[in-house]
Amino acid sequence: MSKAAEVEECVDYRDSKANVEARIKDLLPRMTLKEKVGQMTQIERRVATHEAIKHLSIGSILSACGSGPFGKVKTESSHWADMVDGFQKSALESRLGIPLIYGIDAVHGNNNIHRATIFPHNIGLGATGDAELARKIGEATALEVRASGIHYTFAPCVAVCRDPRWGRCYESYSEDTEIVRKMTSIVTGLQGQPPLEHPKGYPFVAGRNNVIACAKHFVGDGGTAGGINEGNTILSYEELERIHMAPYLDCISQGVSTIMASYSSWNGRKLHADHFLLTEILKDKLGFKGFVISDWRGLDRLSEPRGSNYRYCISSAINAGIDMVMVPFRYEPLVEDLTFLVESGEIPMARIDDAVERILRVKFVAGLFEFPFASRSLLDTVGCKLHRDLAREAVRKSLVLLKNGKDPKNPFLPLDRNAKRILVAGTHADDLGYQCGGWTADWKGSSHSITIGTTILGAIKEAIGEETEIVYEKYPSVETLARRDFAFAIVAVGEEPYVETLGYNSELIIPLKGADIISAVADSIPTLVILVSGRPLVLEPWLLDKIHALIAAWLPGSEGGGIADVVFGDHEFEGRLPVTWFKQVEQLPLHAGVDSHDPLFPLGFGLTCTKKKSPN
Ligand code: BGC
Repeated sequence: MSKAAEVEECVDYRDSKANVEARIKDLLPRMTLKEKVGQMTQIERRVATHEAIKHLSIGSILSACGSGPFGKVKTESSHWADMVDGFQKSALESRLGIPLIYGIDAVHGNNNIHRATIFPHNIGLGATGDAELARKIGEATALEVRASGIHYTFAPCVAVCRDPRWGRCYESYSEDTEIVRKMTSIVTGLQGQPPLEHPKGYPFVAGRNNVIACAKHFVGDGGTAGGINEGNTILSYEELERIHMAPYLDCISQGVSTIMASYSSWNGRKLHADHFLLTEILKDKLGFKGFVISDWRGLDRLSEPRGSNYRYCISSAINAGIDMVMVPFRYEPLVEDLTFLVESGEIPMARIDDAVERILRVKFVAGLFEFPFASRSLLDTVGCKLHRDLAREAVRKSLVLLKNGKDPKNPFLPLDRNAKRILVAGTHADDLGYQCGGWTADWKGSSHSITIGTTILGAIKEAIGEETEIVYEKYPSVETLARRDFAFAIVAVGEEPYVETLGYNSELIIPLKGADIISAVADSIPTLVILVSGRPLVLEPWLLDKIHALIAAWLPGSEGGGIADVVFGDHEFEGRLPVTWFKQVEQLPLHAGVDSHDPLFPLGFGLTCTKKKSPN
């Protein structure tokens, strides 16, 4: 036996200086089946008790979006850190003292925590096409997540959305695989930059300022027929690989630590039970060495009615290659049935060992054995000026100018910040919740002042000259519109927050009578429309003709200042459409890859707007 091997054999898993694989080799044989099953179990914080964590050796806890220490109450990071540390103490009291991983959906900043910086949703970042910006956003998000004691985010979503009817279109960077691939640089921001010699496929987390990332939802979630959420993606393997799998290769080469299976099916087979894709492709061919996590109640969905024949669901999923189960509430049946299935030989012990090795690998790599608790020194980073400035930069780079002036020779933007009187109107002009969209403070998102930030109206007020008067009316009255002493109007309309839906607003019209508001204002005053939405919406020709300028603002998040930056000409418009803008819903799916291509605005479209010459 060589000297090196001898040394490895003597390694104790608690020895921080030892090699990770040697530590796993020491720890795994010490574990009972019960402890292994516990490690494979992820539960929601509302059912997490000290007893369960300690005696079952629960591997991970998550908070659903909006499930903070005090429920849906706006909760500060320090309270989160106290809560997570409390759970961690219980885990460290378990027989082997294996720390747990606390996970959350920090999908556009640490969107669960009050006061955190909320970055634009992914579709807006896709419009920037700026990989370095995505990396920096990952870095900032990691700090704000770690400040709250949390180690793990279920991000990024690297879906390639081929149909805007999908209610998760805004979680996708683009319909274009190349743009999504570029934006995967956020993984390096979240987890840190692996060294050049880092082995491909091996998880990587640089240190206590970084978080464990999760590329999701593997694979083809954005390609389902009709844009149906959790639907079926019908494609040959070659197409699946080229369109939807390619971004995972980029994540894996950056050392992404975990990958989440998709609720969707590929050619009729549920991803959660797809051995070919999860094991033969992802683990064997692509060499992924981190862990595969199920989606929320993803196993239950393997049978009809949901959760019936649970043993069948478990054996299909675990044998296919799922390593950790996001249960998340009734975990006792999982623990009992998984144990039974192993004891009765339906799930080989080797499969369990492989899953647990992967989970332990991520825990060792992330330094959880050495630093299990929150870094309180990071608390000041939450919503700090540096991060808000970064979010503002992201907003201004994400805005796509779709129309500028009724006559191209006479651009309408930039607007004059010293105009005498400006009308600001629309459902989305002064609503931070609408600006942030779904996955913010609550799973479905909500309206009004859900967190700290600047609305479009607030940003306009900050940007205008001292002499300028702003008149704000959400729904301008007939009298206001009859005044005729406005220089111009700014109307912000768009979608209400939504999440993961099956066909919400499948007509893709501007909700809340948005078109009526635009029309009424534009009939009286030259109008700039700011569309706040997670995807392209129907823009009828008569409406487009009426307005002077149009900006797609996506779901910009907490820093509305980025909008004022370009509207008043302090910065150039740089955003380019990350998705094809259809004319009519009947054309869908319409993306750059389809033959009958007749878009309103093509993928990559975006006007620039050079500063108006001063009259003298
Ligand atoms: C979503 C995932 C998310 C998980 C945990 C699921 O419903 O599909 O994207 O990470 O919930 O909140």
